[in-house]
Amino acid sequence: MRDIVVAKFGGSSLADKDQFIKVKEIIVSDKNRRYIIPSAPGKRHSRDHKITDLLYMCHQLATHGLNFDEVYNVVEERYRGICTGLELELNIGEALGEIKSNIKEGASKDYCGSRGEYLNGLILSNYLGFQFIDPKNLILFNDRGQLEEEKTEMLIGEKLKDVKYAVIPGFYGAKENGDIVTFSRGGSDVTGSVIANGVKASLYENWTDVSGFLMADPRIVENPKTIEVITYKELRELSYMGAPVLHEESIFPVKKHGIPINIRNTNSPEDHGTMIVDDSTTEKPRKITGIAGRKDFTVINIEKALMNEEKGFLRKAISVFETNGISIEHIPSGMDTVSVVAANTELNGKIDKIKEELRIYCNPDTITHDTNMALIAVVGRGMAKTKGISGKVFTALGNSDINVRMITQGSSKLINIIIGIDNEDFEKAMESIYRAFENE
Ligand code: ADP
Ligand code: ASP
Ligand code: MG
Repeated sequence: MRDIVVAKFGGSSLADKDQFIKVKEIIVSDKNRRYIIPSAPGKRHSRDHKITDLLYMCHQLATHGLNFDEVYNVVEERYRGICTGLELELNIGEALGEIKSNIKEGASKDYCGSRGEYLNGLILSNYLGFQFIDPKNLILFNDRGQLEEEKTEMLIGEKLKDVKYAVIPGFYGAKENGDIVTFSRGGSDVTGSVIANGVKASLYENWTDVSGFLMADPRIVENPKTIEVITYKELRELSYMGAPVLHEESIFPVKKHGIPINIRNTNSPEDHGTMIVDDSTTEKPRKITGIAGRKDFTVINIEKALMNEEKGFLRKAISVFETNGISIEHIPSGMDTVSVVAANTELNGKIDKIKEELRIYCNPDTITHDTNMALIAVVGRGMAKTKGISGKVFTALGNSDINVRMITQGSSKLINIIIGIDNEDFEKAMESIYRAFENE
């Protein structure tokens, strides 16, 4: 592999002029940092707005025929402030004006959302003296809005072959007909990963506002330790269960060529951060790697005597969820019971219909539901080889007076234990599990 580093900088890393200065220092300190992926400006403080949110708001107002000038002014001011602060000669007003008239004329939601990255890319390329490359010519989506992986890999390889240094905005690409398509929220991480794969980078650096992937969410647990090394698989489990540091879809593109990801802190560049690697790591892992969780799940409990002897019972139950378009999270089961767990957002307004259909198709003895469950994933590649981990998790929860309502485990190579608890106990549970393992 060549010594090419792809570096993605998140929203808080590019929120204002001072952050841009830090970012430039980081980029120029290593000449291998060749392809730079910026997000849109994020929050400068907790009560601030993310530019992407404001742009979606403009789109929303415009679709209802309402005036969006006031919101768009805030967007304009942010970008103008950055350009003036950095003393750039770039005419950002021209791009801002063009985008505004496109929104007025009914531009799509994806187009509007993507402009935050587009504008920040123009500014960063001007500030660095790097070429600006619009990802609409690199990252290709099909008509259903899915990434065309192979074509994209080829396009990137071709178009960046002779480009030494470039800024490529994150978050979006386009269909063959030129229509802009975005990834889901937080998707600049995916752009970085797709570019790293396309140029066969030796490293994908993901610069954010924390010194790596932490063992627990720092907004819930005070001062959690940094995870030094984590595998792609563990990271996916943690991201999926609620740790937003890296978009969960960022793993697939780099996994193909085993390109490591390094999570780093723009505000503390001397910290080594977290290395995300393939499974092949040999060092001795900690007992657990990290924990993450989410609130607001519903559990539907179906009970029927001798359920286990009735062929096709589970299939019938699951097909009810399938025909209603609901993604199921877990299906813990016992002798005469099966529970189906799904996110509340999936079930919104459909729960009565689903229970009724389950009654018709499965003829259960009882069927109940509860919408108040939180899930916590305790993740670690070291778990399978270490005794007593689950004992320790449940002792910690018991000592904190927390009632465990559901337990499931990853079935192949054990790397996770999922615990269901009441929403109200979520923060206390995260804290108590973390404290039980922080020094192990
Ligand atoms: P960016 O804007 O750089 O993409 P994000 O806001 O998407 O950054 O992700 C970083 C944030 O994720 C951190 O500021 C932190 O509050 C939050 N976070 C949640 N769980 C974790 C965790 N386990 N480790 C690190 N950060 C976490
Ligand atoms: N700006 C986009 C968002 O807010 C993408 C990203 O930040 O990665 O979701
Ligand atoms: Mg992010």
